[in-house]
Amino acid sequence: MSQLYFKSTRGAEEKITAGAAIVRGIAPDGGLYVPEQIPQIDFTLSDMLSYDYRELAYRVLRLIITDFSEDELRNCINSAYDEKFDNKLIAPLVSAKEHNFLELFHGRTIAFKDMALSILPYLMKTAAKKNGVNEDIVILTATSGDTGKAALEGFADVPGTKIIVFYPETGVSDVQKRQMITQKGANTCVAAIKGNFDDAQTAVKKIFTNESLKSELKQRGYVFSSANSINIGRLAPQIVYYFYAYSQLVNAGKIKLGDKINFTVPTGNFGDILAGYYAKHMGLPVERLICASNDNKVLFDFFKTGKYDVKRDFIVTVSPSMDILISSNLERLLYHSCNDAAKVKEAMERLSGEKEYTFDIGNEFSAEFATVEETLSAIGELFKETGYVMDTHTAVAYASYVKYAAESGDKTINVIVSTASPYKFAKDVLRAIDKKYEGIDPFKALDELEKISKIPVPEPIKGINTRQILHSAVIDRTQIESFVKERLTQNV
Ligand SMILES: *Cc1c(COP(=O)(O)O)cnc(C)c1O
Repeated sequence: MSQLYFKSTRGAEEKITAGAAIVRGIAPDGGLYVPEQIPQIDFTLSDMLSYDYRELAYRVLRLIITDFSEDELRNCINSAYDEKFDNKLIAPLVSAKEHNFLELFHGRTIAFKDMALSILPYLMKTAAKKNGVNEDIVILTATSGDTGKAALEGFADVPGTKIIVFYPETGVSDVQKRQMITQKGANTCVAAIKGNFDDAQTAVKKIFTNESLKSELKQRGYVFSSANSINIGRLAPQIVYYFYAYSQLVNAGKIKLGDKINFTVPTGNFGDILAGYYAKHMGLPVERLICASNDNKVLFDFFKTGKYDVKRDFIVTVSPSMDILISSNLERLLYHSCNDAAKVKEAMERLSGEKEYTFDIGNEFSAEFATVEETLSAIGELFKETGYVMDTHTAVAYASYVKYAAESGDKTINVIVSTASPYKFAKDVLRAIDKKYEGIDPFKALDELEKISKIPVPEPIKGINTRQILHSAVIDRTQIESFVKERLTQNV
């Protein structure tokens, strides 16, 4: 099979393999790595119907990570998608009324980030070995809540790696915060920052392009990489479940082979939905990708008007993992829509300077948004009708889809990408179901939700409120760089 190469969205000429791109995380010019061309599937949709998750993952990933041998790739896949998942389908498709939910929250941290972060440490270790990287890899991660924990779980005690996570002090749910600050593993480090997710992500991205800091730490035996969805090693594994959703719909008799379907995706950093775009361009029959936003509806406005404008207030909502104004992966879509790195570079410069840019990305996506009120009502209504409990992010997608369907009249079969277990946001989910739960203790809420949903509290968060707190640093956003340096020079 021919080798697929990756290059920066911002024009640097260098072409590198997937493995090298995974180790680097981000390109030296600040751009993101994109495939030179999007590969086409070489299996038929009808063959796909018999693949289990691992086999499908192999068939898809081998087209992207072409520099790994079959053994290497299958080892990574088999180590990732195993009993860590509490459902043997890994990513089951579940129906409620006429809606189909692709549940991506059956991994160790009960959010969809596990789909990619269970495999990323294996991909990274394999890639480091193949590329002759002998330094320890330091994973720097900015999180809006879910990536942090999933990355910590994935990299904890992985030899040759360290992981440092920054989360917004007041921008994550009680369960999310507790999951992170009780993280075990001698190579893990977690700090709260006084600022929001965008502040954290911007500071972390700056470190990746800070040449003097990088060379100083290289002398001490460290190289940086990223577990955020700017890393192509995060995106590639996410493509798999779009194919898997399709295969489950056919096998359930809900569509015929070859029918086109829609996906509605609750979107923050634009990684998940971009994986859907790659799936479509690799050959999956997808009609529309519907981008769902919460009150931070920069993307909705962008798809409606062509203008990306971050000059607005950052709103803290009940779907914190989508509280993002600067969606990094949109840069990749801009690139694919024009294949012109100079144009992308200019837009990104305008984004950091004037805080806005305009761009024509065609009309493959639809967009909708749901306010906090609409999100909570959606949870309550669907529960009353069907007993199915959605988390607050999935509910943003559900409410957005309902609006989209009403406005467009589009009858295409739709899959709602379900990104978190309701347990992760139990307090808000409960008050959406019944006002009597208003103000409930966030950890009592877990037991109450168990009674109502009749789904047991997931193993990973059982008794979480009594675990020992191991990470209590709170720093200013301007201190992120010095914090990293300090931690690494102290060799903690
Ligand atoms: C990260 C996350 C999202 C947003 O995904 P992106 O890839 O950042 O667009 C949505 N829901 C949940 C629960 C998440 O953790």
